[in-house]
Amino acid sequence: MGDKEKKEQITPRRRFFTDMAHHIGLGTMGVLLWGGYAAKAKSNPLTLRPPAALDESDFLKRCIKCGLCAEACVNRPQNIDKDGHQKPGTLKMAKAGDSVTIGTPFFTPRDVPCFMCDDIPCVPACPTGALDIAKVTNPKTNELDFRMMDMGVAVVDVHSCIAFWGLQCDACYRACPLLDEAIKLVYNRNDRTGKHAFLEPVINPDVCTGCGLCEKACVTEKPAIFVLPREVAQGKAGDHYVKGWDKKDQLRVGNRKEEDITTHNERSKKKPLDYLNNNGLGL
Ligand code: SF4
Ligand code: SF4
Ligand code: SF4
Repeated sequence: MGDKEKKEQITPRRRFFTDMAHHIGLGTMGVLLWGGYAAKAKSNPLTLRPPAALDESDFLKRCIKCGLCAEACVNRPQNIDKDGHQKPGTLKMAKAGDSVTIGTPFFTPRDVPCFMCDDIPCVPACPTGALDIAKVTNPKTNELDFRMMDMGVAVVDVHSCIAFWGLQCDACYRACPLLDEAIKLVYNRNDRTGKHAFLEPVINPDVCTGCGLCEKACVTEKPAIFVLPREVAQGKAGDHYVKGWDKKDQLRVGNRKEEDITTHNERSKKKPLDYLNNNGLGL
């Protein structure tokens, strides 16, 4: 049998196996890639979960990605506008590219904040306890209490909030459903002019629920007030934190000499330049 005939005889069989191997290969590669992607597509630490969500790791164990919370949220009667059109709900189910574990619920206050519904319909809709009704049940009345929600806490970026520049703005203050409790406007004298006052928004983290109505209302292009998960906003001592002042630290302070202080920037050791009185930048 010549080479040509041999080739013709084995080709169909070989093609069958090659095709199969090819498909299995592609399939396996697909599974591996998806597995890798799904594992990587973990929620970023700034993800805001629905009201009454368990702590992130327990939440992920319990949530079966059914979407019933998001459905309850979008179906609340207030989501139908006066022309009968459906408005988007607060809760979204994460898709590929959301940097949130795929299929889990989250919300983005600047898009749609949480409206702190009296009956909190998203929470009882959860069939697994990933949203824990006990977290929003007032023990005194045994009723749902939206004041007990804790999705995060609002923080103000004092560098971008225009109220800290001396301009009048209270949009976030007025948008807050816990008016004059979660945000207060604090009067501060403007020492520079001596005449004007600042009315600065200040958050009470013990009252703020993280609904994000303030973030939605903020007048600056990139909101100067925004909601962060509580642990991110308020910090949490690491496991390696040791309370108290170590004897070794005391010794180090005692032994330190002024010239030991080094910086990464040599310029910072020089005297600051007085731009106004020393001929500007000299450019
Ligand atoms: S409390 Fe209301 S607005 Fe907020 S997430 Fe639940 S259903 Fe949606
Ligand atoms: S997130 Fe903003 S609007 Fe909501 S309770 Fe806190 S301060 Fe008020
Ligand atoms: S709405 Fe925004 S800019 Fe205005 S006071 Fe609040 S945080 Fe500041």
